[in-house]
Amino acid sequence: MHTEERTFVAVKPDGVRRGLVGEILKRFEAKGYKIIGLKMLQVSDELAAAHYIEHADKPFYPRLIQYLQSGPIVAIALKGYNVVAGVRHLMGSTDPNEAEVGTIRADFGQLKEYNIVHGSDSTASAERELALYFKPEELIEGNKCMSELVIESLDAQ
Ligand code: UDP
Ligand code: MG
Repeated sequence: MHTEERTFVAVKPDGVRRGLVGEILKRFEAKGYKIIGLKMLQVSDELAAAHYIEHADKPFYPRLIQYLQSGPIVAIALKGYNVVAGVRHLMGSTDPNEAEVGTIRADFGQLKEYNIVHGSDSTASAERELALYFKPEELIEGNKCMSELVIESLDAQ
C-alpha cells in the first residue's frame, strides 16, 4: 500500500525577493503534492539557529544564518508519496552549477550560498523542521488531492 509523507520546504529570501514564490509553488502543485501549510515570516535568531543546528560548526554557518534572515521567507508544508526525496529531486543539488537542468536551483540560481530553496533531507528532518515552523493546528491535512484519490482508488481494486 502507498503511504504518504510530509516535508518542509522554504522559499529562501532571495527566492522571495526575486518573485519566484508562485513559480516554485507551481512546480510542487503540478507534481501533485498537497500544500498543507503555508506562511510568510521573518526568521528570528532562535529559529535560524534551530533550523541550521547541524551546520553550526561549518565555515559557511554565519553567512548562512545572515542569508536566511536577510528578508522574509515563505514556509511551505507539503504532503505526498515519497515527497521528501521528490522535493529534493525537484530542487536539485545544493550548488546550482551541479544541479540538473530543469530543477529549481539549476533554473534560477547561480551560487551555492544563494540557492533559492530549502527542503528537508529525511522524514526525521522533515518532522523536526515542520515542528519548528508550524503549530500543529496550522497544518491542514484533511483534503485529498486528485493524485491521492486516483492512487487510493487503484490500490483498493
Ligand atoms: N551552504 C553554503 N555553502 C556551502 C554549503 C551550503 O552557503 O558550502 C548553504 C546553502 O544555502 C545550503 C545550506 O547552506 O542550501 C544548507 O546546506 P546543506 O548542505 O544542508 O544543503 P541543502 O540541504 O540545502 O541542499
Ligand atoms: Mg540540508
